[in-house]
Amino acid sequence: TTRDLEATNIKRIGIMGGTFNPIHNGHLIIAEQVASQLALDQVLFLPNNIPPHVDKKKAIEGNVRAEMVNLAIEDNSHFKLETIELAKGGVSYSYNTVLALKKKYPATSFYFIIGADEVEYLPKWYQIDELIKEVIFVAVRRHGYQGKTKYQVIWVDAPLIEISSTDIRKRIEQHTSIKYLVPQKVANFIEDRRLYQND
Ligand code: ATP
Ligand code: MG
Repeated sequence: TTRDLEATNIKRIGIMGGTFNPIHNGHLIIAEQVASQLALDQVLFLPNNIPPHVDKKKAIEGNVRAEMVNLAIEDNSHFKLETIELAKGGVSYSYNTVLALKKKYPATSFYFIIGADEVEYLPKWYQIDELIKEVIFVAVRRHGYQGKTKYQVIWVDAPLIEISSTDIRKRIEQHTSIKYLVPQKVANFIEDRRLYQND
């Protein structure tokens, strides 16, 4: 029937938000697992602006973080960089961003991908009770977090990956290798630009 046809025309898009400071293989692995297990057509990688109070040295400019995202995702045709928050500037709330994305991508169901740390933080998200009506939250486990929540989330079984941007920044400062923790192109970029170094 026409209704069935319409239903199949609804796109399924994942939203992978983060500061990506820098993007790492954990982000890529979970996005790919969610996309494959929930049959998503696309995953949008959405870099957030970093609030001004964050350490200057470690808060790499938005366009540079976005460039690293592009290097990381360029070999995956389902992954796309979405710069809507960077373009807007200032602080963005996911709720407002999602409303803007719904206009930009009509006839779409959105799957908001988060790690267990963010699952626990959901009660603090701006307008969470409204946001939860607009997207389906998809969660993956993360070391050190129970991910207990009263909100409805779909748990997807992805490998438990103990990689974080914080750990990567620390390793760079200590001149320890980050090879295999981030895509090689990202590692090269960080080295060429001497990002996250103390000196
Ligand atoms: P930082 O240490 O700077 O906070 P991060 O590694 O947590 O960086 P973010 O950009 O903050 O990376 O994370 C974006 C999203 O990806 C969040 O929802 C976070 O929970 C999730 N995420 C990041 N790394 C992992 C991981 N290793 N396993 C599961 N989820 C992750
Ligand atoms: Mg984080």
